[in-house]
Amino acid sequence: MTRILKNYINGKWVDSESTVFLDVINPANGLVLAKVPAGSKKDISDTAEEAHLAWSSWRNTPATQRIQYLFKMKQIMELNADEIAEICTSECGKTFSESKAEIVRAVENIEVACGIPKLLQSDFSEDIATGIDEFYIRQPLGIGACISPFNFPIMIPFWFMPYAIACGNTYIVKPSEKVPLTMTRIFELFEDLKLPAGVLNMVHGGKETVDAILEHPLIPAISFVGSSAVARYIYQTGVAHGKRIQAQGGAKNPVVVMPDADEETTVRIITDSAFGCAGQRCLAASIVLTIGKNTKKFTEKIIRAAKNRKTGNGMSTGTEMGPVITRESKVRIENLIQKGLENGARLLLDGRNPVIPGCENGNFIGPTIISDVESESDIYRTEIFGPVLTIINVDTLEDAINLINKSQYGNSACIFTRSGAAARKFRHDTLAGNIGINIGIAAPMAFFPFSGWKESFFGDLHGQSLHAVEFYTQTKVVIERWHEEWTRKF
Ligand code: NAD
Repeated sequence: MTRILKNYINGKWVDSESTVFLDVINPANGLVLAKVPAGSKKDISDTAEEAHLAWSSWRNTPATQRIQYLFKMKQIMELNADEIAEICTSECGKTFSESKAEIVRAVENIEVACGIPKLLQSDFSEDIATGIDEFYIRQPLGIGACISPFNFPIMIPFWFMPYAIACGNTYIVKPSEKVPLTMTRIFELFEDLKLPAGVLNMVHGGKETVDAILEHPLIPAISFVGSSAVARYIYQTGVAHGKRIQAQGGAKNPVVVMPDADEETTVRIITDSAFGCAGQRCLAASIVLTIGKNTKKFTEKIIRAAKNRKTGNGMSTGTEMGPVITRESKVRIENLIQKGLENGARLLLDGRNPVIPGCENGNFIGPTIISDVESESDIYRTEIFGPVLTIINVDTLEDAINLINKSQYGNSACIFTRSGAAARKFRHDTLAGNIGINIGIAAPMAFFPFSGWKESFFGDLHGQSLHAVEFYTQTKVVIERWHEEWTRKF
């Protein structure tokens, strides 16, 4: 019988109130792995009430004690890495090693959040006037929630959750309904943490659950990661309900290749960036801008490297690229390619409909490369979120930066060069939140904020590091006067 997933509320596994259930499908072979509740308002109101009750004692638990649970959380993630990664690959499609890499990133965030006793410290000014001192304290907000996308089922909730609970908030994780099994298993393993009931909760579902989170008066802070259209909606709706929102959106990341770039390294790194995780990374290279006249050899090398990438089931040895997440996603990507070709684009490598023995029902698209694309066309402007790389040639670095800065997205931009001056100009002039210099995926470590500009981010404070601490706390300023003569002498 197909497993029906439950929510984790107040330390117990409970059935959703939802009457609609969605299939969780292995994208490599089309098999149904489980059924996930489509969501219900009641699930969220029940969770919020319990999490609010739990908050009253959790916020008074010293930070030094709260982080003891995080030390254990790190151990649980590491000890069970293989099992978690296997579940992630089965529902998300990425390769087993890509799933394991997610765990490393999640653990990094737990480690940084273990420093919360220090990160929560504030400033103190003595004698702002005679005998008067001023300082501020950081206090938790209440219940935090994160709404995550399908492409990093393990890592993304950890950009927020460890910081939120370490700061004294209670928390609700809402995984993507496409990949709910991974977080379900992580929560089963986290039962060993023996966290006080209600501190950490997980509620499944789609839009109805998200809307209930956005509207619930007991949930003051929400972290979102997903597509830009939904990120904008989350931001606008959440703010209209008086909430603090950080909403990371979609991307279309350019990579500039200067004529002096080291060809071998650049080709290797760009192919990894464009085709790793089947192009379903918000930091994936999706447009290569080559500069100057002699770029033919570089393009040929990229095509060769892409052609040699082994596409298949993420659990099979030697697989370098798995399927895309759903059948709809595969069709959407193929349609975008087709429309691009009809509008004059040139296909340099056609990855459509690869034959993967044993995976005939999988959602596979092989590495695809196109050129001769107009910067106003759909294929150039739309986030494809699949293994499709566009190569465009421009005359100068200035032209490349102008083109990049016209994009509605600003998640990441990279440059490959041996010139410090070119790199510096690029870093300074480019409108994007994460810059890579001779780097293919400019993913910030956990002790830096995960930036993002323009329609790639709605809000003020980002995930990870000090930004996460600031997001999940509010400052209270205290001004004190203590005259000596008022103090009783014992
Ligand atoms: P998505 O926007 O479809 O879904 C994200 C979450 O929002 C899911 O939990 C889903 O249940 C919920 N949701 C979907 N539609 C909704 C609606 N109409 N109303 C309310 N909630 C809704 O995104 P996805 O397809 O799961 O993930 C891929 C997208 O995420 C890509 O655009 C990618 O660039 C982006 N992403 C961005 C970052 C970043 O750091 N900026 C990181 C990872 C992924």
